[in-house]
Order: sequence, then structure tokens, then C-alpha cells
Amino acid sequence: MSLSITQTFILPGMDSYTLVIVSALASTIMAATMYLLHRASRRTPCLLDWSAAGLCFLASNALALLAMHHPLPFVVAPGIANAFYISGHYLILAGVRRHLGRRPRYDWLAALAILIVLLHASGVADGAVSRRLMLLSPFVVGINASVVWLLARQPDSPARGSYFPLMMVEAAFMGQMAVRGLFLALGQPMQLTFLGNQILQTAGSLMVLAFLSLATMCCALIVIRHQELALRSASLTDSLTGWLNRRALLDMAEREFQRHRRSGEALNFLTFDIDHFKGINDQYGHAVGDAAIRHVTTVSAQALRGYDARFRIGGEEFAVLVTGEGNYQARQIGERLRTLIENSPLLVDGQRLTLTVSLGVAGCQPDDLQWDDALRRADQALYHAKRHGRNRLSVWGEDLLPAATARLA
Ligand code: GH3
Ligand code: MG
Ligand code: MG
Repeated sequence: MSLSITQTFILPGMDSYTLVIVSALASTIMAATMYLLHRASRRTPCLLDWSAAGLCFLASNALALLAMHHPLPFVVAPGIANAFYISGHYLILAGVRRHLGRRPRYDWLAALAILIVLLHASGVADGAVSRRLMLLSPFVVGINASVVWLLARQPDSPARGSYFPLMMVEAAFMGQMAVRGLFLALGQPMQLTFLGNQILQTAGSLMVLAFLSLATMCCALIVIRHQELALRSASLTDSLTGWLNRRALLDMAEREFQRHRRSGEALNFLTFDIDHFKGINDQYGHAVGDAAIRHVTTVSAQALRGYDARFRIGGEEFAVLVTGEGNYQARQIGERLRTLIENSPLLVDGQRLTLTVSLGVAGCQPDDLQWDDALRRADQALYHAKRHGRNRLSVWGEDLLPAATARLA
């Protein structure tokens, strides 16, 4: 009974011709929006994949429109039209793959498109429209599921919030495809006609229309969020060394200091400065000076633990936030860093240029009101190390006692 309703029920005013034209418009908007966004930010190639997706959906709709006016060979419409349609879905997946740093796999796209055309050319997709729909649904569902799966596997990404809308849209489209496919598979065979107006087909066209419009917005959202995060990261990162800058230190040290006050967990500052750096600049030039700064950060990163936050706080002055460890461990880390730098000369025109650093360590004290009290003490310890011969480390409270600091002040 319900099947006969769906077979004959036609929504007034919703003919397939209008829906194909509106879908073509939505595809054009998708292609144009993604392309224009790419023009505005050339370093986001996934936008070109998504623009190509819009073009594929457009080509599919254009062939459908053409088929309404002129009889086309079966392999062209629905054959090539379906290949374009499924390629459109695949290109959304390709853009997501590229966005996540994976290869977009255009070879898979070519294989998929050829397979769809071959299915039509070989007669496998001949016969009832409903049979063709059931045959092609698994391809679309598989592609949609891959997008959802890939994005769901990024729980730690700071951009994960921007992935959620596209995941929802892909999952919803996958769901309706599966439901329509099951309906056709389990129900009595339906007499759907090519580009017909029955409710099942009209619902499908409306879903495609909604999908195109929403996917365009979701893809744009991913790119905008990505660019916002990149800008934020650039504003907190030093471009020469890739270490965090002083602005990031203000943020992070305050957060860690509050945590230290709440939990009582140790918080130490390790600061260091390259010895006689002016001489390097004077003797070898500014470019070698820059290379020396980069060299020192690269080498010292090997002595630090992955989670130690590291900052370039001045020209050739650096700070490391050592959390959860006492003075003793901070001294050990600093000594490891000092020895490593001393034993890793920089090659300048085939010559080995030995660099050294002086270091200071100081921890937050119970009566500290702000984190920069500890940073100031670490600087005093660093100054102490410089005055006592350089290429050495001083710990505030051990090598340098509070009374001496008071005198120094
Ligand atoms: P000390 O052992 O006492 O630290 O002596 P120093 O010569 O290293 O003195 P200081 O730490 O004051 O040296 C700072 C110099 O670093 C001054 C400045 O010309 C140079 N400098 C600052 N930023 C940069 C940079 O980005 N690139 C280069 N090449 N030089 C820089
Ligand atoms: Mg120096
Ligand atoms: Mg300095």
C-alpha cells in the first residue's frame, strides 16, 4: 500500500527539470566559492579539490539537462553523468585527505570513474532505474563514510570543531542514501523512470541540493578555521627558530603558574644565552649569526623533553618551562643541553665553530605573587653563570644564594 503511494505521489511544482537546474546552480556556487577562496589564499590546495567537486556535480547536472532535450547514448547519460556525480563526492573526500596531509589519490578517482562508465557500458547497470540506484548507492555511501571516518580520527586536532559540521552533513547524506537503497532493495520493484518526478526521486534530488549547499559552507568553514589557527600560531611563533615567542610565554607561563599554585607541582624556568655572540656576528656576519641561533635551538631541542615548552625571548636568549620537576631535574636537563651544544660545532665554510651557552635555573617559590619573579631569578642565575666564566649553569638558591641576589639587586 505504502509503496504504491510512493510510486504515484508527486510533489506539486517539484519537477525534475527545475530540481536539476537548481542543483546545477548550487554546484556552480560550490565550484566558484571554493575557487575564489583559493584565489584569496593560495596555500590551501584542498580548495581546488572542492572546486573540482562542484564542477563534477555541475557536469553531471548539465548532462542530465541535455538528456531531457536530446536522446543521449546510455553510456553518456546516465553513464558518464553518474561517473561525474560520484567523482564529485570523491573529490570532497580527496580535499579532506589533502587537508589532513594525505595524498588525495587521483588514481583512485580515475579508477572509480572508469568503473562507473564500464558498469553502464557493459550492461550491468541496464534495466530499471531503481536497480541502478541500488548499484550506485554503495559507492556514494562508501565515500561519505570515508570522509566521516577520516575526520572522526582527528580528536586531538585544534580544528576538530570545524570538522563536525561536514561530518554531520556527510553522515546524513550517507544515511538517506542507505535508507533509499534499502527501501528499493526490500520493497517491491518500483517503476521509477529516468529523471522522473516520483517522491523517492524528488526526495533524492532535494537531498543532493541540500548536500551541495551545506557541504560548500562546511568546507569553507574548515578552511577559515584552519587559516585562523595558522595565523594564531604564526603570531605566537618565532619565524627564525620555530620556537614560541615572548607573547606565547606570557600566556603559557601564567597558565602554568596558576596550575602550580593550585596543585603545588614544581615549576622551574631554565634560561640560556649564547656566549660571545656579538663576536660571531662581527667575525662571520649576520647570516652566520642567524644560522648559529638556529643551530643552538635545533641542538638544544634534542636535550629537552618533547613536552618542555621552549621560547626565544630575546635575540639569542631562550627560556624553557620545566614543569613537574624540581631544581635538580631542571639542572640535569640544563647540563645535558650545555654539553650537547658545546660538543655540536656549527660548520661555517668547512670550519668547525664551537658555540657555548650559559644557563640559569630558578623555581617558583611559595611566596611568589607572579611567574616573572621566578623568570627574573633565573636571569640572575644566568648572569651569575656569565660572570663566573660562561659555558656553565647556575641554579638560583644553590650556586647563587638569596642574600647574594639581594646584594646584586
Ligand atoms: P655574552 O656572552 O655576555 O652573552 O656576550 P654576547 O656577545 O653574546 O652579548 P649579548 O648576549 O648581549 O649579544 C646580543 C647580540 O645578539 C646583539 C645583537 O647584535 C645580536 N642579535 C640579536 N638578535 C639577533 C638576530 O636575530 N640575529 C643575529 N644574527 N644577531 C642578533
Ligand atoms: Mg650572549
Ligand atoms: Mg644576550
